Amino acid sequence: MIASLREAGWRRARYRCEYCLLPEAHAAVVPFQIEHIIACQHGGPTVLANLALACHHCNLSKGPNLIGIDPRARAFVRLFHPRRMKWERHFQWDGPRIIGCTPIGRATVAVLQMNHPDRIDVRQALIREGIFP
Ligand SMILES: [Zn+2]
Repeated sequence: MIASLREAGWRRARYRCEYCLLPEAHAAVVPFQIEHIIACQHGGPTVLANLALACHHCNLSKGPNLIGIDPRARAFVRLFHPRRMKWERHFQWDGPRIIGCTPIGRATVAVLQMNHPDRIDVRQALIREGIFP
């Protein structure tokens, strides 16, 4: 991936994970990455419209997945697409927890393990410091 594309992706995301909104400045030791929303192996191109900034946890959990299972309806749904969907429509905060408000939101929370206890702890600490969300 060319550096200018990577830098544009970071700026557009305002240096936050586009899935869990964690600011890069407060990430753990593993740096954030520009990821393919539709993975290369599924034919996703390396263009800004298919790239998103993701924290290590979101990127690792998402992998090449395009769909998940809405735990409420037990139905396959596509995952959140940061370029085509608005975060606020699919997710909301409940303290340090991310709540999926739609089938897409619920499936994405599950696949990306957005409420793993370690991640809750990090958000809780940032909330206490008054710097999140
Ligand atoms: Zn994230």
